[in-house]
Amino acid sequence: MKADEIKAMMVGVCNKLISEEHRLCELDSYIGDGDHGVTVARGFQAVKEKLEKEVYTYPEEIFETVGHALSVTMGGAIGPLLGGLFSAGTKKLGEKKDFSCQEFLTIFEEGLKRIQLLGGAKVGDRTMVDALAPAVAAMRQMCDAGAPLADVINKAAEAAVLGAEHTKELMAKKGRARFLGEKSLGYVDAGATTISLILLGMREYIG
Ligand code: ADP
Ligand code: MG
Repeated sequence: MKADEIKAMMVGVCNKLISEEHRLCELDSYIGDGDHGVTVARGFQAVKEKLEKEVYTYPEEIFETVGHALSVTMGGAIGPLLGGLFSAGTKKLGEKKDFSCQEFLTIFEEGLKRIQLLGGAKVGDRTMVDALAPAVAAMRQMCDAGAPLADVINKAAEAAVLGAEHTKELMAKKGRARFLGEKSLGYVDAGATTISLILLGMREYIG
């Protein structure tokens, strides 16, 4: 995928996240403070405005822009976490003009590492990691098997949706929700849903 296609894909991702503001707030309201959708919509609105203003040659610049804009406009703990997902891998991909499975894998693998390094969450803690870790594992498996990019992103999105769904059964150990113990059972984690929406948005463009 060339930079212009990746930009169009990411603008699509922004539109999707902006349109899901209400649902993400609702999910955060059961056990958090109910602001997740507002924060996410603000972040992706800023990303969209930035991306639409520029012409990019290197896909790396797009992911760096997305990560930086999310980090500064979302703020709090979530800004650097979600921003890091997009920007952590970019240094390794500087000169590439065409991204395929391997480059997407680098972005997402490095992004997961950054989120875990900054936030300390493990699989099962009821966070974004519960959607992202299975998505990255699916991506790695599909890439290693030589699958085309559309199939890789498709499987990753499916894994993220299942991972997010599974957070219903988990008690929160990170973020504000950790104070609520069993009250977090029965609801899908808001941040995990955001991860699944990002991958579903990518799939809508690539698939
Ligand atoms: P806040 O908790 O500051 O109100 P948000 O409501 O925007 O921030 O985000 C809440 C989401 O952040 C949670 O649903 C969870 O998925 C994610 N989250 C919280 N702490 C962590 C962490 N340490 N690592 C990864 N994700 C986290
Ligand atoms: Mg919140």
